[in-house]
Amino acid sequence: MKAQAGTIYLVGAGPGDPKLITVHGREVLESADAVVHDRLISRDLLKLVRAGARIEDAGKTPGRASRSQEDINDLLIELAREGLSVCRLKGGDPFVFGRGGEEVLAARAAGIPVVVVPGISSALAGPTAANVPVTHRGVESSFTVVTGHDAQSAAGAGVDWERIAGTPGSIVVLMGVGNLGAITGKLIDGGRSPDEPVRVVERATLPGQRVISGTLATIEELAREAGLKAPAVIVVGPVAGVLNDGEIT
Ligand code: SAH
Repeated sequence: MKAQAGTIYLVGAGPGDPKLITVHGREVLESADAVVHDRLISRDLLKLVRAGARIEDAGKTPGRASRSQEDINDLLIELAREGLSVCRLKGGDPFVFGRGGEEVLAARAAGIPVVVVPGISSALAGPTAANVPVTHRGVESSFTVVTGHDAQSAAGAGVDWERIAGTPGSIVVLMGVGNLGAITGKLIDGGRSPDEPVRVVERATLPGQRVISGTLATIEELAREAGLKAPAVIVVGPVAGVLNDGEIT
């Protein structure tokens, strides 16, 4: 399927490995006249962009600080108004903590057609790549995906950690590396056992992927010792120990 002129495509690039983009996403990427991509997108995916297409890194403008969301919305609209087919390539799935919804609303307000192509979110690929089944018969039948971004602030980004802790099911935390200690503390305070298994997956599906396994009580120190860095996904719950092979790898 060739990307259509004057249309914005929000394409999920998948969690990291360039092979994990969808067929539809790849077709749009290969045929688009302009590609506006997130910072964490694999260079191998950008090699698929056709010769002569315009490529913009939405994270950076030469000589300027990162673009604001408003600047990105304006850029997408401007390119589509020039009559170009625009591939907005976003990490994981466009609608999981990706501000994709805002880009759709801005394009609609400008009268520009938008197509959304789903992607494999790191919220799912992270646990799976680390051999953690987020649901497992007889162990867990639901999971919650939450941002750990503001876990240290009083408001906690609107996340009610006590309620999350009290809800049955596995917990998957994105953007939580810098706040790991605050997150595990809040989950224990909310009633989760300190012995509950935790697995952290750094650079899931990418070369150098690492998996660190511990419990709510131990994972912060293990992560510090290992020098854990973003991007990483944190999985909490008995499912993290079901396939018991996740030492530091
Ligand atoms: N829309 C994206 C998420 C954007 S928020 C998606 O669906 O995956 C960015 C967060 O995603 C990071 O802080 C990290 O928690 C997670 N993440 C993205 N790529 C990752 C990867 N390859 N390995 C581990 N975590 C990743």
